[in-house]
Amino acid sequence: MVAVLEKDRTEEAAGANASRPVTGELRLRGVRNMGIIAHIDAGKTTTTERMLYYVGLVHRMGDVDDGTTVTDWMEQEKERGITITSAAITCDWQGTQINIIDTPGHVDFTIEVERSLRVLDGAIGVFCGVGGVQAQSETVWKQANRYGVPRIAYINKMDRLGADFERVVDEIEDRLGSEVVAVQLPWGKEDSFKGVIDIIEMQAMTFDGGQDGTGVQVVDIPAELAGAAERARATLAERVAEKDETLFDLYMENADVSAAALHEALRRTTLANALVPVFCGSSLRNKGVQPLLDAVVRYLPSPLDVPAAKGVSPRSGETIVCRADEADVLGALAFKVATDPYVGRLVFVRVYSGVLKKGQNVFNTRTKQRTRLGGLVRMHADSREEVTELKAGEIGAVTGLRDLTTGDTLCGEQAPVELMRIPFPEPVIFMAVEPRARADRDKLEEALQAMAAEDPTCVIRHNPETGQTILSGMGELHLEILKDRIDREYKVEANTGNPMVAYHETITETGEGTHAFDRDIGGKRQFASISLRIEPLERSAGVQIDFEAPDSEVPSVFRPEVEGGIRDVIMTGVLARYPLTDLRVVVTGGAREEEATTDIAFRTAAVMALREAVMRAGPEFLEPIMSVEVDTPLEFMGEVMGDLNSRRGKVGEMYMRDDSQIIHARVPLAEIFGYSTVVRSLTRGRASYTMEPEAFDRVPKSVREALLES
Ligand code: GDP
Repeated sequence: MVAVLEKDRTEEAAGANASRPVTGELRLRGVRNMGIIAHIDAGKTTTTERMLYYVGLVHRMGDVDDGTTVTDWMEQEKERGITITSAAITCDWQGTQINIIDTPGHVDFTIEVERSLRVLDGAIGVFCGVGGVQAQSETVWKQANRYGVPRIAYINKMDRLGADFERVVDEIEDRLGSEVVAVQLPWGKEDSFKGVIDIIEMQAMTFDGGQDGTGVQVVDIPAELAGAAERARATLAERVAEKDETLFDLYMENADVSAAALHEALRRTTLANALVPVFCGSSLRNKGVQPLLDAVVRYLPSPLDVPAAKGVSPRSGETIVCRADEADVLGALAFKVATDPYVGRLVFVRVYSGVLKKGQNVFNTRTKQRTRLGGLVRMHADSREEVTELKAGEIGAVTGLRDLTTGDTLCGEQAPVELMRIPFPEPVIFMAVEPRARADRDKLEEALQAMAAEDPTCVIRHNPETGQTILSGMGELHLEILKDRIDREYKVEANTGNPMVAYHETITETGEGTHAFDRDIGGKRQFASISLRIEPLERSAGVQIDFEAPDSEVPSVFRPEVEGGIRDVIMTGVLARYPLTDLRVVVTGGAREEEATTDIAFRTAAVMALREAVMRAGPEFLEPIMSVEVDTPLEFMGEVMGDLNSRRGKVGEMYMRDDSQIIHARVPLAEIFGYSTVVRSLTRGRASYTMEPEAFDRVPKSVREALLES
């Protein structure tokens, strides 16, 4: 038996990375921007926490169950035991700078995942050894596919009753459609889970030095697992050789390929998204986390290994490539706004090319403003380190830039670039909110604006007719958390109305409208006329406004007013005051009279013309449809399905996972309010479910009539 101290083992494992690369390309090779994606409860927070412990960033092990982990830095997260805000945490493992973007697992917050995926280079998918591939892991995995993020998989909770490594490996392959290959085997399982078998190095590892697992011991593979390990290694070599030419050549010479050759080939296949290496452990029991950190260094990409970020020049519209090894051209993307109790507003940025320096003048492509960079910080969970620069490939946060917000690009004024903006889904639910005391009106408004600036799926609107303030979001839980934050973080006592479905209006045909505004106001004649055409666009296309009217009919100085009038109607709708979506508005013509034409005349003519066109274009309502996954014991399947059907639900895929029946369904949000209570009473508390917005669909006739009457 060989006992190796943690330090020795990790130095050896670090290989080429043992000495810290410092400059240029070498420095970048030693950076990993990665995130952890998972279904809620799979153990993402616990795994992140353990990683931070082993890299030495925190000195006490936190525990999600007693609310002490460093990534869960918001009160609500502590209470609910979920991670909402993605904090970017920088740490160091064997001379490699690992920037961990903690992503939320709760379905109401997929936008956070989407945002993080945009700026990550690689990810660890954490799966529960019992639950396997759950709804949310499927969603985030597919999001990661869309962004082409190279991944490794970690099957956690091997200590739990019912944990089954092979089954989860098969599930990842079958349900997520990624080709996976085990590079470890569990040593024991459930109560007797001891550690992992590394089938590349052909050794076993235990983590029991002391209580915290820091003393890694490398030992011989126990005799009873030797055969399984041999077979797994043969499979591994064969699978990797199929995908990698270099390894294929070696494999043809001798099927017993070296560990070094396997590591290198696995790195290439992981980066190419051809194979996902699978690891296992139990984060809670401190087993298997250090090899996972090694794997991040070994297999996940450095900023140089991923395609360079692409942007466009706001001047010429040409594509600009922001290469990480490009020192002169600055391109940095703001991907998250957070409010920090000490430094105030923090904007997380990923630098794609060039260097962000403290005190330097930077240009914001969206606002077209030049500003001096106040401060730069590198975040370590709840502590922060002031730095003087952030280089290409790095993630950090900017302080003191009030106008900088999610999706903005910071660049040099001489070479402006706009990096791809991050698409945000439409809110599906809203509620009215008002201060309990009139005197708190401004404080409430400030709180709402701050939250909206941080979270693009939290939208604030004011209804000019009722004077109400409307807060919209992505689900009941999302609204509940926003309300909590108003109370606690901003200390404003507020009343909220019942959450309501955010219906939309749209059109089904093309339509035209013309309106001439001609009126005496205060003894002065005001005149303008607008003609426009509207066309339906595909779902989720949003609204597009184009001008085809000649300048002689609608002079360009009046176009902002015309567009303003159009946007007013888009916001307030025509049928029942829900916003219009998925249509193109083309202003085709107009008329004016030299003396009598005013802003207000053009604006009002546009409003009236669009209302007329909408009424002629088969207006309809759209409603948000949720994708629901219920996990229920078989005996309650009938009740759950019957109930879903009675809610206008369409049951889709169904299958068994362990002893549970999994039911997928699409259900209109309007029918599934307060579903947690329903599920509990239907199944005596034994089923669980998740749901997330999937699409907006046309409502049936009965709902249409009810909406028209309301
Ligand atoms: P997250 O929602 O994915 O961030 O998951 P958490 O890290 O909050 O973990 C969810 C629950 O699973 C908590 O009660 C953890 O204590 C528990 N947990 C996490 N990792 C393990 C593990 O390896 N084994 C066991 N038995 N429980 C775990």
